[in-house]
Amino acid sequence: MPLWPRQAGGLTTRKRVKSPTPVGSQGFKKNRQMQKLALVGLGASGLFALKELAGADVEVHVFDVGPVYDKRYACPIDQGVLTVCPPKACSYCAPGQSAGSWNDFKVILSASPVIGGRLYDLVGGDELQKKLNIVKETILKHAPCEIPVVTPNEEDLEWIKKKATLAGMTYHYQELLHCGSDNAPAINTSILEEIKAKGSNITFHWDMKVMSVSRRGEQFLVQYDGYRKQGNEQEDLFDMCILSVGRGGAHWLTQQEFYKSLDIYPGQVDVGIRVETSCFFTEEVDRRFYEPKLYYRSKHSNDVVRNFCSNPKGFVTPENHRDYVLVNGHSKMYEKSENNNFAVLVSKTFTRPFKDPQLYSQTIAKIVNMLAGGGPLVQRLGDLRAGRRTKSLTNNLVKPTLEAECGDVSLAYPHRILEGIIEYLDALDKICPGVADDSTLLFAPECKSYPDSITVSKNMETNVPNLFIIGDSSSWTRGVGQAASSGLLAGEGVRKKLSQSKEKTTVPVA
Ligand SMILES: Cc1cc2nc3c(=O)[nH]c(=O)nc-3n(C[C@H](O)[C@H](O)[C@H](O)COP(=O)(O)OP(=O)(O)OC[C@H]3O[C@@H](n4cnc5c(N)ncnc54)[C@H](O)[C@@H]3O)c2cc1C
Repeated sequence: MPLWPRQAGGLTTRKRVKSPTPVGSQGFKKNRQMQKLALVGLGASGLFALKELAGADVEVHVFDVGPVYDKRYACPIDQGVLTVCPPKACSYCAPGQSAGSWNDFKVILSASPVIGGRLYDLVGGDELQKKLNIVKETILKHAPCEIPVVTPNEEDLEWIKKKATLAGMTYHYQELLHCGSDNAPAINTSILEEIKAKGSNITFHWDMKVMSVSRRGEQFLVQYDGYRKQGNEQEDLFDMCILSVGRGGAHWLTQQEFYKSLDIYPGQVDVGIRVETSCFFTEEVDRRFYEPKLYYRSKHSNDVVRNFCSNPKGFVTPENHRDYVLVNGHSKMYEKSENNNFAVLVSKTFTRPFKDPQLYSQTIAKIVNMLAGGGPLVQRLGDLRAGRRTKSLTNNLVKPTLEAECGDVSLAYPHRILEGIIEYLDALDKICPGVADDSTLLFAPECKSYPDSITVSKNMETNVPNLFIIGDSSSWTRGVGQAASSGLLAGEGVRKKLSQSKEKTTVPVA
């Protein structure tokens, strides 16, 4: 049974809500002069923008399609409520529902020009590091248990530098936190509670889908309706907007009235495989780095191939979009498997005349699903090399943590992508002997498509004045750490604007 059914049926009435009552208001007196800001989406980036705006001199209205944080449930498969992923997306791992800060919750803490997004290019390494430090401190403060920060030491760095060079790979340094899917609800809820306590200027609209945002003079008209109970559409005017709708909301963004006025250029796409292998093959790098970032340039096509989202002793999981199913992975703090899973991704950007990279990766995903009877597909690496379909995993050395249809990935994936992945695994085998064994499992489709790149200021404001776009929907970020950092940048930007407009309206005394 679908967990989050979207009901069909037309809209009935549309009410203009002049001033909804602030729910977090203990002693808050609404100031008619106060500017109003709509924050659409309370995932990783929205939450940290809100943290910055709590208590500021602005009336903030938060909209999210999800239910209030403490009512968000854990994965129904983990809970034993379901055995297979529901036919429609549930709130657990589908992007558009704050995925990564509820699922696995691994946070990259290093300001890097290549890992986790492109904020390094926007604000510089020092500024990004300051923001990542705030994200780290916030998460650690709200964690229900001690969460270790993974920091490689000198000896680890010497070790990986030598091994990577001999394998023809490049290692990129990173520190990270792994909170685990099981700790995520407590951390997010506790951060939000702190914000609420400080933020009498904030009104929450949970279970609410923003249907559209459009310009009305210098203001923005926001139209919204219940997500699960539709038919009560309302609208309101705002002076500023922060849009933080994630990758799941990227398409929605392109449908908005202001979109054509933005300065944009096409984003990239990553097509790859979720690799599952024995944790014994990777235990040395897991112990030293948890997830070493290793990049490789394929000999076959000169494509950049990289690993992403390693989950030592974790689980492969479906990522259910409404009209196709991808694979992903996660791990937990307490429950462990005997496998390691990680993505190997080949990055592509397109030039004229094609400019829809998202459609490209979704089409590959749908072909895989079609061949697999509607879900993900799995193939042994040995069978892929031998050019044959995998028929059964009964006697395979690596036992899968996700039940998927056995098949032949090469019927759906472009040759250059698979060549790049095989070359990558052969190189990685020199660092982690065993990972390129015939028994290694390849799950498909693992695709990451990123929205168009939107030109923004250092505070994430677009060329449309007072419109901020943050997190993955801006395409500047690709993970929780930088998404949250972009939220902090936007929050600061709004505060600066507020103090500037206050200065303008203040009459000099003498
Ligand atoms: C399964 C999975 C696991 C992941 N694991 C990790 C990980 O371990 N570490 C990591 O760094 N990254 C991970 N990621 C990536 C990570 O989720 C994103 O980079 C990060 O969440 C981006 O934050 P965001 O705020 O931009 O978007 P999101 O966190 O996706 O938040 C978007 C929010 O907007 C809301 N929304 C969207 N449209 C509307 C609308 N029209 N009206 C109202 N609300 C709307 C959604 O409900 C959601 O709450 C994972 C992604 C997936 C899919």
